[in-house]
Amino acid sequence: MTTETECLFCKMVRGEINPQRVYEDEHLLAFRDINPQAPVHILLIPKQHIATLNDLQNKDLAGRLLTQVGTIATQENIAEDGYRTVINCNQNSGQEVFHLHLHILGGRRLNWPPG
Ligand code: 5GP
Ligand code: ZN
Repeated sequence: MTTETECLFCKMVRGEINPQRVYEDEHLLAFRDINPQAPVHILLIPKQHIATLNDLQNKDLAGRLLTQVGTIATQENIAEDGYRTVINCNQNSGQEVFHLHLHILGGRRLNWPPG
């Protein structure tokens, strides 16, 4: 288990690491993925340390996360053409960072189903 002190995304929230921020408010932070898989690849996270989607209990926060997606997509000019949101959870999904994050991918035609 990653502690909040060690957690990469918590370090971003605290300003110890500075990703390219695209949105921030009291509860949420969004920034560009360091290894983009599409022309637009943004990670949207709750500021609170929540390890995986299995640990998300707060309905208000869940609502904040989901409703922010469309606003970011509009800001990034991918809302109309379309985009994909992904939340990887645990080993079988390939989750690498154990601080809940929602991927927003767009700017190109995306394959389905994912591998
Ligand atoms: P996961 O596989 O856990 O769903 O996705 C983790 C994502 O975090 C990956 O897409 C990876 O490229 C991104 N990532 C890992 N380290 C950093 C970093 O230091 N900065 C940024 N901006 N993204 C990162
Ligand atoms: Zn964290």
